[in-house]
Amino acid sequence: MTFAIHGIAVARGIAIGRAVVMGSGRADVAHYFIEPSQVESEIERVRVGRDAVSDEIHRLQATIAGMGPKEAPHELTALLDVHLMLLQDEDLIAGVKHWITDRLYNAEWALITQLEVLSRQFDDMEDEYLRERKADLEQVAERILRYMKGMGSPVAQPPAPKRKTQQDLLLDDSVDVPLVLVAHDLSPADMLQFKQSVFAGFVTDVGGKTSHTAIVARSLDIPAVVGARSASNLVRQDDWVIIDGDSGVMIVDPSPIILAEYGFKQRQAELERSRLGRLRHTPAMTLDSQKIELLANIEMPDDTAAALRAGAVGVGLFRSEFLFMGREGNLPNEEEQYLAYRAAVEGMHGLPVTIRTVDVGADKPLDESRRDEAHLNPALGLRAIRWSLSEPEMFRTQLRAILRAAAHGKVNLLVPMLAHATEIRQTLSLIDFARAELDNRGIPYGHVDIGAMIEIPAAALSLRTFLKYFDFLSIGTNDLIQYTLAIDRADESVAHLYDPCHPAVLRLVADTITECRRQGKGVSVCGEMAGDTQFTRLLLGLGLRSFSMHPAQILAVKQEVLRADAKRLEPWAQQVVDSEDPGRALEA
Ligand code: PEP
Ligand code: MG
Repeated sequence: MTFAIHGIAVARGIAIGRAVVMGSGRADVAHYFIEPSQVESEIERVRVGRDAVSDEIHRLQATIAGMGPKEAPHELTALLDVHLMLLQDEDLIAGVKHWITDRLYNAEWALITQLEVLSRQFDDMEDEYLRERKADLEQVAERILRYMKGMGSPVAQPPAPKRKTQQDLLLDDSVDVPLVLVAHDLSPADMLQFKQSVFAGFVTDVGGKTSHTAIVARSLDIPAVVGARSASNLVRQDDWVIIDGDSGVMIVDPSPIILAEYGFKQRQAELERSRLGRLRHTPAMTLDSQKIELLANIEMPDDTAAALRAGAVGVGLFRSEFLFMGREGNLPNEEEQYLAYRAAVEGMHGLPVTIRTVDVGADKPLDESRRDEAHLNPALGLRAIRWSLSEPEMFRTQLRAILRAAAHGKVNLLVPMLAHATEIRQTLSLIDFARAELDNRGIPYGHVDIGAMIEIPAAALSLRTFLKYFDFLSIGTNDLIQYTLAIDRADESVAHLYDPCHPAVLRLVADTITECRRQGKGVSVCGEMAGDTQFTRLLLGLGLRSFSMHPAQILAVKQEVLRADAKRLEPWAQQVVDSEDPGRALEA
């Protein structure tokens, strides 16, 4: 039966494919397709893993048999029996074989997929005892996975399959149909793992439009919907689904008519994409000859390739925290960071790169296991520069790495989440300290312009202080909206109140742009507003000349720029900002 699930649109486009439903915490398992010739060896890997776990349990049982009843309670023996029984479970074995043979999933992926299928069956059981066996099944699968991890995979990850059109799909139900991932939640670091993945789209139950998970999804440039509440419960493994990333809807088990309609939309979107592609080498200039700088936001040094492909004239925001995440506390040392920053600088072939110092905390935990649950409001806690200043060694290591990368090209250093003059002074003196350390060691480094993010209202209201100390400012609208309106940007239950057009937000943005221009200092917007074509004309009218966004959005924004007359937009933009309901005024 066809049904639709509504969420929040985060990345445009249409994806049509089969659902891969992922349980919580399963994102670190490798997902890739194998060659048909590798089917037997993948099945063998699962078998070896299963036999190893079974031997381990038998050994444990033998040890227990030699103990007294006090040391080895009866429950433990019974539990091991259950685990052994589950290991031999026909549904588990046959299911895993099915995913490997018929879908060409790699062994780990096949195992967690079948685990998900069986978990649902356990959830539906009337008998409480049987329902509780789900946890045992998970433990058994976890142990097999651990064994397989130790064995490593003999299979190299092949490239992701080409996206298929709806026409192909109707003709072909073979193994390489596109897959879309449906999960309860994915951390930003998980999302990053999927950069080279097999998935043609994503849906998550939780998240807001500018949550970091959504931001990374957008950078993957594939359709995505977040905040779809119970999608991961309602959709079953292998269901056919359509993800409409433009309107934030997922359609499950679509009828042929609906499939045909979305197939048409998909082709239209592809045509539009290739049409926009022709603008790549066109200079971003308004009708009244204002030169506009369109920069890229990146998460990893490799992303510079996509930035150049989209015609970016530099990187306006390198979110360096992605080098720090998912490493179980092993933070990157100076050399590793230096090489990464240098790779980004060299990747841009002489175009400027703005590296933001680490911004972890809130919805960007260093590790999933270290998600900040101890503090009531992590977004208001030890995040970004606050964390850096509390870890001066770590911070100076990063600063030295950035300064060293600046010897290879134009680098700007950007500091997130500043609010206080004391924080500014502390930061600047740590930068001086890092320079002095490099001098003492005789290591070369380059000049950096130093900028601050304006993303806390207090900063936007202290521009005089900020402009006294910094060479440029970059407006982080994602957080500026969150902190001005007291709306958690990652919480889908208040997503309807997260309003970039609130007069207070626009006033802070407008004043920051005006003051920077008045003082001849550089100013850009690097939050998601910069890449949203709804706001291009407004920002141009407010005097913005530098926009930083995901590479995938650059050409659409350029199209708006080419059609705009910045001078003529000025009075209209002021009116919008001054109005009681700028959202409506913007549409008028
Ligand atoms: C912002 O807050 O607008 C921003 C660009 O930073 P981040 O999204 O990484 O918090
Ligand atoms: Mg921010």
